[in-house]
Amino acid sequence: MEGRTKQMPTMVFSCAGCNSVISDSTEYLCSYQDMSCIVVAGGTNISISLTSTRTSDPDGCCQGISCNVCGAVVGKRYATELPRHSLARNNFCLDVNAMSSYTLGNSELRASEAQPGALFQQAADDAASSADSRKLEQRITELETDLLKVQNMVLLHQERLEALELGI
Ligand SMILES: [Zn+2]
Repeated sequence: MEGRTKQMPTMVFSCAGCNSVISDSTEYLCSYQDMSCIVVAGGTNISISLTSTRTSDPDGCCQGISCNVCGAVVGKRYATELPRHSLARNNFCLDVNAMSSYTLGNSELRASEAQPGALFQQAADDAASSADSRKLEQRITELETDLLKVQNMVLLHQERLEALELGI
């Protein structure tokens, strides 16, 4: 199976063991799902083992690629042509199980959405709004008292008016 070479998002590949950056998508050539690897043309913080080992292929020969920081084996470099995996030869085949990746522009936490102290701000807002509603209640009580006074005055005036009318 020839690898997929479709356009991939801008990604950073790092060692799963220590999170050191080992390559990125600008070096990406293809991926071979059946080999659980991605093929890159270059990397950083990695070195190629000086000793070659046989692969499962009868004539296959490869070298290990290890992380310079923690020493973990992160992939292989095939010296021989692999059937159906032409790009694997002489490039770096990074083991997808030995690395992690980060897609650029994929931030999980946005400063504008989750401000430190957001809860504190919420508490302050709540306190302010409950103070507002207390003021409002007080004002309503005052208005009700005033309204009652006005109603009483109207009644009083009406009674006086009636008394005057009767007097005539
Ligand atoms: Zn590492």
